[in-house]
Amino acid sequence: MSPKPLSRIYAFLCFLFFMLSCSSTQPTLEAANPVSISWFARKHGFVMKTKGAIDNLDKNDISMSFEANSRKLIFNGTLVWLNDPVKTWRGRRVLSQRDIDKTIMPLLDDSLLLGRRGYKTVVLDAGHGGSDNGATGRRNVQEKRVTLDIAKRTRTILEKHGINVRMTRSEDKSMTLNNRTELLATWKPDVFVSIHLNAAQSTTASGIETHITPPRGCAITANSKVFDRDLVQYQNNIYDEGNMSLGYLIQRELIRHLKLVDRGLRRSRFFVTRNAPCPAVLVECGFLSNPAEEEKFLAAEFRQSAAEAIAAGIIAYFDETKSRATHRVRK
Ligand SMILES: [Zn+2]
Repeated sequence: MSPKPLSRIYAFLCFLFFMLSCSSTQPTLEAANPVSISWFARKHGFVMKTKGAIDNLDKNDISMSFEANSRKLIFNGTLVWLNDPVKTWRGRRVLSQRDIDKTIMPLLDDSLLLGRRGYKTVVLDAGHGGSDNGATGRRNVQEKRVTLDIAKRTRTILEKHGINVRMTRSEDKSMTLNNRTELLATWKPDVFVSIHLNAAQSTTASGIETHITPPRGCAITANSKVFDRDLVQYQNNIYDEGNMSLGYLIQRELIRHLKLVDRGLRRSRFFVTRNAPCPAVLVECGFLSNPAEEEKFLAAEFRQSAAEAIAAGIIAYFDETKSRATHRVRK
């Protein structure tokens, strides 16, 4: 072969290698494609009104509010963190395609919810236990005791609704995260909820967070950058849509019942949720490091309200998946 074709082959191989390396380090490039908010509004029949940095979309009983350069979406009054910030692209405000697919559509269309799971068994996971107290407040309220109490109260409510409930622990005992995940693998539940209370350096940090696994390739809410570890596909990622719906409904109910600050439905890759074989959330029901919130958790009525909120979120999720299941049969 003459040198010229060889150099062409070499150039082609370099190009091929470049393309392959791009596709392995940037698997989400296509999924992050921009979609104009006004186009999305028209396509789905929303009336859109823009006021400064805010785009409001309204239709029947659904309202969504997007903010320029922000990952905050207010969906029917509840804060939901987007995977990507709203950006301006070619003079228009845009969302990422993956936020349309993985954040917004699961909230608008319950046909995406059922996935490969049913609606029979819930596993409740009381965070910490035994030698691991979790967070401890100034008045010595221990996270492990509050989470177990809320989990037991939630179980009672769900069982009254005919839902099977299993608990990763029902007494004050030590459990590793692996122990909890192994139980999930054995029990194969339809929903998993891990119950926690928050703590921060600042005593003024306050409010409620619900965490779900972000889709593969997306940053967690606490970071704006994507790291290599964010590119891993976890077992729980096949339930991205179910996670979204379950997480939203539980966060909505926690805010309604407990009336604390709404810190939003957030994305985190926690061990127990990312390895769950079903839609899964981790709730942080309030801050034990905040004296006013610690005080609230001393009252049985407040812990009962937290349990009612978690149960109401799970029941609302099952109602949506069930109505879809019947709908499918009718079709
Ligand atoms: Zn905890």
